[in-house]
Amino acid sequence: LSKAFEVGGGGFFGLRKPLLLRAVDDVALGIQAGETLGLVGESGCGKSTLGRLLIRLIEPTAGRITFDGIDITALKRMEMRAHRRSMQIIFQDPYGALNPRMSVEDIIAEPLIIHGAKQGADTRRKVSQMLEKVGLPARALDRFPHEFSGGQRQRIGIARALVLHPRLIVCDEAVSALDVSVQAQIVNLLQDLQREMGLTYLFIAHDLSVVRHISDRVAVMYLGKVVEVADKKSIYAAPLHPYTQALIAAVPAQHPSQRSRGKRQRIAGDIPSALNPPSGCRFHTRCPHVMPVCRERAPPLTEPAPGHQVACHLIAS
Ligand code: SF4
Ligand code: MG
Repeated sequence: LSKAFEVGGGGFFGLRKPLLLRAVDDVALGIQAGETLGLVGESGCGKSTLGRLLIRLIEPTAGRITFDGIDITALKRMEMRAHRRSMQIIFQDPYGALNPRMSVEDIIAEPLIIHGAKQGADTRRKVSQMLEKVGLPARALDRFPHEFSGGQRQRIGIARALVLHPRLIVCDEAVSALDVSVQAQIVNLLQDLQREMGLTYLFIAHDLSVVRHISDRVAVMYLGKVVEVADKKSIYAAPLHPYTQALIAAVPAQHPSQRSRGKRQRIAGDIPSALNPPSGCRFHTRCPHVMPVCRERAPPLTEPAPGHQVACHLIAS
């Protein structure tokens, strides 16, 4: 799957040629029903674009997306409608994602109405049930977003995403803006809802510590490429890609006493521009193990152990 954006075109008489930003570049990834796939990488690596492609909020430049064996990229508007309710997204910013002029009831009911439900007792009952599921009191129905805390607003966003009983949820930095204690509450809620409603999650975060608790498997992206995919245990205990190793070293220690010993390491160098990515392996400008071949050839994704994929010249296929 690939997605390129044209940026910076125009100018006088349209003389300035647009540049091509390859936000997602030839990525192949699968998610099993009922699992949580964590997707991590620094900002600008293409993970949000990948999440939006998955549920067809944006269209790919090349490639396809299959859902339950159906190629949804080939579906026409009307055919897509039936699938659309199966796939929802929860955004990072509960403040920006909720319409401030709408009551909580109207916010949560909106997806139902869009998909043909009538306003009335039946819709109100479904909304109330959802509100209860996400742990908000019934009296919240007639209130407005500004009357709630960040964590409560994210609960409203979750209720809205789940009211159609979807199967796949893209959580795009869904807890990143929240305080650590509130993050844990929302992650626990998402896990409870997953069990109860049989949900599948793509859980996007820039930080490996956030996805650790919730993920079954983790995929790591760097400048539009997936560089490593493995089950949670392998990715944290035995990461193979130098970028994953650096990300793990950058995770703050769980215990404050370790933190003061300066265990947290920063990844060397700045992230290069996605408009002009490095040749060969895109991580070569920051990699402590860089070899001459890395500047010339892009490493293919190989599978050195069953279910563990990595793209690095250090790892023989
Ligand atoms: Fe580092 Fe080379 Fe592996 Fe890229 S391919 S991560 S530069 S060793
Ligand atoms: Mg993002």
